[in-house]
Amino acid sequence: MTTQKIALVTGGSRGIGRDISIKLAQKGVDILLTYNSNKEEAEKTVAAITALGRKAVALSLDTTDSSSFDHFFSQVSQHLKNTFNTDRIDFLINNAGTSLNAAITDTTEAQFDEMMNIHLKGVYFLTQKALNHFHDGGRIVNISSAVSRVSFPGVSAYAMMKGAIDVYTRALALELGVRGISANVVAPGAIFGGGAMEDTPEIRSFVMGNTALGRVGIPDDVGGVVAFLCSSDAQWINGQRIELTGGMNL
Ligand code: NDP
Repeated sequence: MTTQKIALVTGGSRGIGRDISIKLAQKGVDILLTYNSNKEEAEKTVAAITALGRKAVALSLDTTDSSSFDHFFSQVSQHLKNTFNTDRIDFLINNAGTSLNAAITDTTEAQFDEMMNIHLKGVYFLTQKALNHFHDGGRIVNISSAVSRVSFPGVSAYAMMKGAIDVYTRALALELGVRGISANVVAPGAIFGGGAMEDTPEIRSFVMGNTALGRVGIPDDVGGVVAFLCSSDAQWINGQRIELTGGMNL
């Protein structure tokens, strides 16, 4: 068995998740990343990681379908054994997600359920099952959003799921302390170049106007912080929410 560290990064194929995967790989971590349907983009990220001299595998995963998680983790187990020469994951980054821009009066039950399944139920049960394959002393980083602190029109269903992730992370940190596992939240503001954020000149100008550092966010603003949280320098950070917004709505 190897002492090499392995991270499972959901939605690690593009956008913020891609930056997280690359930044972790730059710190010497091997990567098991997931994508939903865009295999081509996932394979490009795998190639970028292997070019850094690290191992990487891309697996498909739909986090809205918790009934698929047992099958997913049987594939993970196979790859841990055959590709990574281990049976344990060290880091879980719950990043996969979409967004929704709909007023409370317009939000449909189907839209609400989708937000709940991908951003809340999926994260809860994927983490639960991942813990069966997790090293004691490992780290969990959940990706939330600035909108769990500050509200804008149209974000309610999305934001309330992210708010629940902030709460869930504190509970995880408390319950998993006995295994030496820490759990933290990273809450980015508007990140352009990540596909989940609608990108228009009007939205960009609104975001810049509300941001102390006067620009919009990019995926490169996020991955390094997640990699830091998985490093030994961050060993005493636990149960915390770290906002990455350049100072939005201070
Ligand atoms: P992207 O759209 O760039 O990437 C989303 C990733 O998640 C892709 O890998 C995608 O796979 C995967 N994915 C999408 N749907 C599912 C699903 N049902 N099951 C499993 N995986 C899925 O998103 P971002 O990088 O912008 O966002 C990543 C995370 O960051 C999300 O949780 C989002 O809520 C959060 N966030 C984003 C912000 C932003 O402004 N962009 C701000 C704050 C938080 P595929 O390529 O196959 O579709």
